[in-house]
This record gives sequence, C-alpha cells and structure tokens, in this order.
Amino acid sequence: MSSKVEQAPVLAQAEKIQSELVELRRHIHKHPELSFEENETGKLVAAKMSKLGYRVRPGVGGTGVVAEIGSGRTVCIRADMDALPITEDNPNGYCSSNTGVMHACGHDVHTACGLGAAMLIAANPPKNGCVRFLFQPAEEMVNDDGKSGATLMIEQGCMDGADAVFALHVDPKTSVGQIKVKDGAMLAACDTFEISIKGKPSHGAYPQHGIDTVVLAAQAVQAIQTVISRRKSALEPAVLTFGGIKSTTYRPNIVAEEVQLIGTSRYFDDEIGELIFVELKKALSIVEAMGGSYTVKRTKDNPAVMNDPQLTNLVRSVGARLLGKDGLIESNYEMGAEDFSFMSQVIPGSFFFLGTKIEDSPRAIHTPTFDIDERAIPLGAALLAECARQFLGE
Ligand SMILES: [Zn+2]
Ligand SMILES: [Zn+2]
Repeated sequence: MSSKVEQAPVLAQAEKIQSELVELRRHIHKHPELSFEENETGKLVAAKMSKLGYRVRPGVGGTGVVAEIGSGRTVCIRADMDALPITEDNPNGYCSSNTGVMHACGHDVHTACGLGAAMLIAANPPKNGCVRFLFQPAEEMVNDDGKSGATLMIEQGCMDGADAVFALHVDPKTSVGQIKVKDGAMLAACDTFEISIKGKPSHGAYPQHGIDTVVLAAQAVQAIQTVISRRKSALEPAVLTFGGIKSTTYRPNIVAEEVQLIGTSRYFDDEIGELIFVELKKALSIVEAMGGSYTVKRTKDNPAVMNDPQLTNLVRSVGARLLGKDGLIESNYEMGAEDFSFMSQVIPGSFFFLGTKIEDSPRAIHTPTFDIDERAIPLGAALLAECARQFLGE
C-alpha cells in the first residue's frame, strides 16, 4: 500500500469499523450455509441492514436480501452469501462449526464487505441517488431448473430501475492493498457436459461377445482432447475438462453396460462455445464407429462476465485514490466463472478482485485450508462504498 492510503477519509472510517467487520465475517464463517440454504445468514444481513436504516426486502430469490437507501439514479452493490460442501481444516477459533460446510470461496468476506459498505453509506446517505445492496444466495450452484441465485433474484426484480452494478471477489493470489480489474471479458462462460456411452455388456473373459464401454470411453476422452488442441485457434482462450467418469458396474470381470462422463468447457466468445460443442460431438462419434452409442447433454451454466469499460475506469479511479497506483493490477482472462454475469447482462456492471493473500502462507479457494488476510475487509468495504458514491457523483 502506498502513502495515499492514510489520506482517504473513507479508509479512516473503514478502519474504525474493522473490528466489527472482522467479527461479522468470523461469525458468518463459523456458521456457513450451503447454496439455497442461507437462511440464518440472510436473517443476519436483513436485521443489520434494517438497523442501519435501509429499506429491506428479504426473501428475494429464496434467501436473498435487497436493501436500499436514498432515491433516484440507482447503483447496486452485489455480495454473495453461500458456502461450499467442504470440510474445513483450519486450526483457528472461527473454523466452521457446521461440519462438511465451509466458506471456502470467501463469500463470508463478500457479505462482510457488503455490510461494511452499507455502514459507510448509511453514515452519510446519498443525496442524489439510491444505493441498493443485493445480498445473493446460491452463486455456487443451480437449482433443478438450472438457475442460480443471481437469475432468481433478477426474476424477482432486484435490478429493476437500476443503472449500474458492482461486485468484488476475494483473490488469494493478490496482496492486500491491491485489486485486479479488466475491461470486457474477465471471467469465462461455463458449460456442463454430461455424456453417456453405451456398448454391449459381456464377461471380462470373453470381450469378443460384447462392445466394451470402458474402451469406448477411453477412446472418446482421447478424441475429445483434440477439440481444444486441434480444432480451435490458439489465440482463443478456452479449456475443456472432464472431472469425472463412472460406470454402472464396478467389477473386474463384468464389462459395464454404461459409462458416464461429466465435464466443463470454459470460453469467452459464444462462437467458440458452439464450436467446442460441435467438435465434441464429432469426436464422440468414434464411439459409434466402434459399435457403441452415446448421448450428450449440454447445459449452459453462465455467460462470460463482461465488464463495462466506463464502470471499470470508475473502479480504477477509486482504486488509485484509495490504494495508490501500485494498488491497481490489470487482470488477465480468468477461466473461472461467476453468475454475476447474469446481472451485468441486464445493466452495465464491473467485477473486480480484492487482494486477500496471506503472504507467508498462501491459500487457494475451494480447498479445506482456505483463509484470508482480514485486513482486506475494510478495504473491500471502502472500495465498494466509494464506487457507489462516485457513480452517483457524490
Ligand atoms: Zn466458488
Ligand atoms: Zn466465489
């Protein structure tokens, strides 16, 4: 952090509430709730926002909370609240007390930063506009209709009449006091593929009487690997990964009737997404050439997160003011996905990464030892609050 840090009044205000924000974050961290089950977290958020004087609408898109202050031109700040099905392995006092559930993606931090921004805004409410907070359920998961929390909240009007939306995400690879920003495509679009391969079951000793599904699946996986390496321009960022494979039976001498594969593709350009699907089907036809059959189901989970350049410039200007020029890093493409993309499809948005790295003990998101340097929390709160204020010209 540069010497400018001490000069911004909002940082002094944020520092004053640091211990309260850390306490809130630790409470949420200790009591994590899975996607679509953020009942207690939603209640805590709604109670806190009411107390701060916000107009609160609970139960939006399930457990989501919409809370606003002021009127007129409206700027939204989004924070997600859900945890992951991971058993935490940290020795600290705020380690998850809900076995098998953990805030391993930092959404506890996002919620605390959102509440912190709300405290800073409430202390000096907007005179010429409205700040609307969107505390969102289920970023990590979709329901049976294929919808995650952002879509469910949008369907219930959380973005109606709004003009811009900002959000942040913890980044354990970036130091505290730094943020990562990018114009245009920042996080990838994400599809899920579920493939079923069928052959003809046989005794393992007499494979000539059947069509071996395990061999078909092995051939298919190899063929599919050429989609990214041979069918797409090297200049287009994309990845295709199969995370799992399973068979209907699992015995040494029974050739399974069916083998299933599940995988994900990540890309930024919709045409590349289509090309991957078309070429994946072509590669799969090797299964038919060898006497088997297949089905493939594609689910489009998220579009790419597209950052509005004007709003991203606003984030840059706020970042430079609060953190100094060294605090700004231009991000590369990230192959991760985020359902914030649905919100920034409706109105212009900008998403940035907040440095939360523990310098002497690096952590990774979605792992049992994930944690952050909590000095990032007041910075996140101040950055979000100032983005809203600057958007409203205050
Ligand atoms: Zn995550
Ligand atoms: Zn996340």
